[in-house]
Amino acid sequence: MATDALRRTIRGAGLRSTSARVMVLELLGDATTPLSHSDLAEHPNLQAYDRATIYRNLMDLADAGLLSRSDLGDHVWRFELKQKGLTPDGEHPHFVCTDCGSVACLEDVKVEVKVPKKAPKREISEVLLKGRCENCA
Ligand SMILES: [Zn+2]
Ligand SMILES: [Zn+2]
Repeated sequence: MATDALRRTIRGAGLRSTSARVMVLELLGDATTPLSHSDLAEHPNLQAYDRATIYRNLMDLADAGLLSRSDLGDHVWRFELKQKGLTPDGEHPHFVCTDCGSVACLEDVKVEVKVPKKAPKREISEVLLKGRCENCA
């Protein structure tokens, strides 16, 4: 996405378009896996910003609906652009390798969760598959 388009996206979500936000969206747009706050804070393109600023911007972008936030079982938030997913709301399952901890987006895997009518209502926020990645299998 071009910088102009990113700025429009940020403003369209009701946020002020700042250089930090544009950069965060740009990096997540190029990423092939969800990134954690530390991944982003250590990225060479974000060295001009302190960790707290990056964290606050991630939260703002997630609250504005531009990013999705997932906890893949290790209590670390990982962020990715919402519109990258193939389902209309941008959600897709994730795969976590139990050996090396690498995370992959399963954008072409459809997981259907059928909840019986009588079951208590639960809001499912994350579908997680665990196993071994190609490098560890
Ligand atoms: Zn692995
Ligand atoms: Zn993903």
